[in-house]
Amino acid sequence: MKYLGAHVSASGGVENAPLNAQAIGANAFALFTKNQRQWKSSALTPKNIALFKENCEKAAILPQHILPHDSYLINLGHPEPESLQKSREAFLDEMQRCEQLGLQLLNFHPGSHLNQITLDQCLGTIAETINITLAKTKGVTAVIENTAGQGSNVGFSFAHIAQIISKVEDKSRIGVCVDTCHTYSAGYDLKSETGYQKTWAEFDEIIGINYLKSIHLNDTKKEYGSRVDRHESIGKGFLGIDFFKRFMKDPRFDNIPVIMETPDETLWKSEIELLHSFE
Ligand SMILES: [Zn+2]
Ligand SMILES: [Zn+2]
Repeated sequence: MKYLGAHVSASGGVENAPLNAQAIGANAFALFTKNQRQWKSSALTPKNIALFKENCEKAAILPQHILPHDSYLINLGHPEPESLQKSREAFLDEMQRCEQLGLQLLNFHPGSHLNQITLDQCLGTIAETINITLAKTKGVTAVIENTAGQGSNVGFSFAHIAQIISKVEDKSRIGVCVDTCHTYSAGYDLKSETGYQKTWAEFDEIIGINYLKSIHLNDTKKEYGSRVDRHESIGKGFLGIDFFKRFMKDPRFDNIPVIMETPDETLWKSEIELLHSFE
């Protein structure tokens, strides 16, 4: 069975996110646990936390199907010491918020070398940040998202992600989120039948399918190998509807959160219905 939802709004408080997910017929969701464009946010209150848990129960959505996303400002591989420290503090705060909410996963973009350090150095710094953060927290798995490879973002190649994981000490708390838009933009052909099989075989060979903890299910506005990150609504982009049919029938993606980050939120409810009809 697929656990499918969208990245819903937590405006007015994290406790609103599960209700927003329920309203679109989702049995999974993503959220920001703080304002994603600010460094500082007020702490979660005991009331926020209690209501969040209560509303997840009301919506019948389990913690393992909830995929919080960290702030866009964080760069775990930042080349400059002061900025790296700021990112590390913010990332720890994100993990601690997940702990407080009883959540099990935190999804993040690996980082950017900003053309100031090498790719290897950047991947090493990211792994070091993950090790520092996991040592200070409990019960939350750090979930690396593959990127489209825009600008100096690392993590567009499965090999980058494997390299980070190889340096993470606690392998039981590291995982991967595959974003289908990013994957195609990065030059993995998920669209054709043979490309689809080859891409997932490559994922398994290079990273290991056991590390796959979640999916971002998006179509793409940009062509194959563009290295540009522009999401499109389901079936309306270059990936096309046949990809989504193939995906929904694939049991490898059962029981993990599958989250749409598609641009038109008025379509989310119908996109979820359409996708479930392919199962
Ligand atoms: Zn994504
Ligand atoms: Zn994206």
